[in-house]
Amino acid sequence: MRLNHEDLAMKTVELQQYKRRLLDLRARLRTNEYRSIDAALEDARPPGEHENPLPPSESLDKETTLEFAEHDLHQAVSAALERIERGTYGVCETCGREIPPERLAVVPYASLCVACERKAETE
Ligand SMILES: [Zn+2]
Repeated sequence: MRLNHEDLAMKTVELQQYKRRLLDLRARLRTNEYRSIDAALEDARPPGEHENPLPPSESLDKETTLEFAEHDLHQAVSAALERIERGTYGVCETCGREIPPERLAVVPYASLCVACERKAETE
């Protein structure tokens, strides 16, 4: 993909938006250090849907998994912020191709394109 001047300017604005989102996400992970992602997600749910249907044992397993996820997420967010500083943000770390903006919109800390991520997951 060839970038003209306008695209580059746009890219900078987008980059700042991603940076803000990532900083926001990281700040939230910090303040929620002793809370589970589950609780954070619960806050985002509409009222009346706060019941937890899981029995205690399953709920515990889930929490352990989420703690790992949270740690990974913090690392992924920090790494993404580093890539913004280095100017390599939005580029797949494996194949060097551009990560589609639709993917970054959903996963702003993505370091791999969809194809490479799938490959990494199956390895
Ligand atoms: Zn890739």
